[in-house]
Amino acid sequence: MSIDLSNFRDKAVASIPVKGKLKKDNLDVNGRKINFIEPVKYEGEIYRVDRDKLLHLNVIYSYQEACGRCLESFTKKERAVLSGKLVEKTDKIEQDGEDEIIYYVDEKLDLAEYIISTIILSLPMKPLCHEECKGLCPKCGTNHNKEDCQCVIEDVDPRLAILKDLFPKK
Ligand SMILES: [Zn+2]
Ligand SMILES: [Zn+2]
Repeated sequence: MSIDLSNFRDKAVASIPVKGKLKKDNLDVNGRKINFIEPVKYEGEIYRVDRDKLLHLNVIYSYQEACGRCLESFTKKERAVLSGKLVEKTDKIEQDGEDEIIYYVDEKLDLAEYIISTIILSLPMKPLCHEECKGLCPKCGTNHNKEDCQCVIEDVDPRLAILKDLFPKK
């Protein structure tokens, strides 16, 4: 999926539309297994601002993952934005710090890697089937989203638990 930038040689061209799908089955993000349900969609444009070429891309992806609390699998649809300044990759690369830089080679721009990092950055911090997921009972493993159990969980402050071990009751 490389995008041809040679149209920009024509000074009259102000922008190039970018639209497509990226086939990716799964991603391992720090041990989290992200399974894509369908190809990642992206749509946007590369446009000229003075002497610069800028990219603005909407990235939409649907994935399946296991909830960190109840371990049930859930699916989610997320959106992210990939934007930055296009810079030709040469031996001497000058970084001007401010902008996000997206490199291209020989008038060809390959966005796959940039789209993947955009997805990784946009993933919710914690995998949760929903915000209020009640998780599993630490004693019997019952999924509290589905049913309650009779277990009595001692709600001990972990700092107090240490004291409890240090000074066992006689
Ligand atoms: Zn859950
Ligand atoms: Zn229980």
